[in-house]
Amino acid sequence: MLGRNRVWDKNKIESTLWPVDHEIISGLPLGNAVGGDKWAWYFDSKGIYKVRSGYRAIMDSQWSESSSSDSPDALWWRKLWRLPIPLKARLFVWRAFHEILPTMVSLRSRGIECDVVCPRCQAVLESPSHAIFDCPFSYMVWKKSRFWKVLENKRAMPFADFLRSLSLEISLDDLALVCWLAWKLWCERNKVVHRGEAGDPQTIFDLSIASFGEWQALNRSPSQPSAVGSNVWSLPQPGCFKLNIDASVIPGSDHIGIGAVIRDEKGSILGAMARSVGGSFSPFVAECLALREGLRFAKEIECVDIEVETDSINVVSTVEDNRELSLEGPILEDVKQLFAQVRSTGIHHIRRSANLVANLLARFGFNSNCINVWVNEIPSVVSNAVAIDIID
Ligand SMILES: [Zn+2]
Repeated sequence: MLGRNRVWDKNKIESTLWPVDHEIISGLPLGNAVGGDKWAWYFDSKGIYKVRSGYRAIMDSQWSESSSSDSPDALWWRKLWRLPIPLKARLFVWRAFHEILPTMVSLRSRGIECDVVCPRCQAVLESPSHAIFDCPFSYMVWKKSRFWKVLENKRAMPFADFLRSLSLEISLDDLALVCWLAWKLWCERNKVVHRGEAGDPQTIFDLSIASFGEWQALNRSPSQPSAVGSNVWSLPQPGCFKLNIDASVIPGSDHIGIGAVIRDEKGSILGAMARSVGGSFSPFVAECLALREGLRFAKEIECVDIEVETDSINVVSTVEDNRELSLEGPILEDVKQLFAQVRSTGIHHIRRSANLVANLLARFGFNSNCINVWVNEIPSVVSNAVAIDIID
C-alpha cells in the first residue's frame, strides 16, 4: 500500500479496499522508520490497553448508542465523562440525572416504608433536585457560590433538565465545580440523615471549594496543562534561531496545509516553507506533521540551535511521551531524531496570535499543490505579519 517516498499509494488503496476504509487508511500518518506491524489499543493515547480505558470505551459506546450523537444528552454525557472530578462524583451525577439517588421519594417508589418529606427541612417531598438545590440547607451553600445567578432560576427544574441546560451555558471547569458542589451537598445530606450531623453553610462551602482545588492540583494530568503562552511573538535568544510551525485543517478535506518559518535573533527570516500534505488527518496529527516537516526543513537549510514554537499545547505535552504505539507515534519518533539533529533547545506553547506568520503560511500551503520554499527572503503572503512581529 506504500508508494515511493513512504506515502500511501492512493490508487492501490482505492482499487483494493472498500471506500469506507480509504479515508481511514489515508489518515494514518507514516514515519521514516521501517518496522513490522504491531497491535495497539485505539482508545488509549499511548496505544496501551488498560482495563480503565476498556471500561470507558464500553461506557462511551453504550451512551452513544442510547442517544444520537447530536442530541443534547449525547453532548452532556460526553462532557460528563471528561469532567475533572472523581469517578464517585461522576457516578453520583449519573444517578441524580436518572433520578435514582436514594432520596425519600425514590425509596418509597421502590417499596421501602419511609416518610417521603425532606428529612432536613420537613417541608416538601425529597426529590434529587430538592435535596441538592432547593432544600434551604443546600440553597444557603449555593447562594455563596459565584454560580448563584445562573442556578437561581433553574433550581426547581428536574435534575436532568438542570444539567442539560447548565452544560450549554458554563465552561467545563465550572461544570466540574458545580457537579463537585452538588456531590458534596449530597454527602452533607447523608450526614444529617444517617448521623444527625448538620454543618454550617459557610463551612461546608469553604471546605468544598478547598477540597476541589486540592483534588484538581493532585489529579490534573500533566499532559493537559492549562492554556498559557505569550500573546505576541518574541525574538529568539541571542545566537539561537526560532522555528514557528502550524497546520491548517478543514474537516472533510483530503489534505492539510503546513507552514514553517525560521527567524534569527533580529527577527530576519532565514527560511520559510508552505506546503500541502495528502490525507485526512485530525488537527492534532496535522500539528505533529507540521512539527516534523518544520524540523526537516530546518535541517535541510542547515539551521541548528533551534527553539520551536507551536500553538498546539497537545503537541508540546506529547513530544516527550513514549507514544510508540499511538497513531502519531511514527511521526514523534522522527521528531525525536530531528530534535537531536538540529540541536533543538526545546519546544514551547504560544497563543495563536503569536504564531500568525506560521498560521498564514499553513493556510497558503493548504491552497497550494507544490512545496513552497523561501530562503533569506520574506514570502509576500506574510510580509505584513513579519513586520508586526518585529514591532511588537
Ligand atoms: Zn428540604
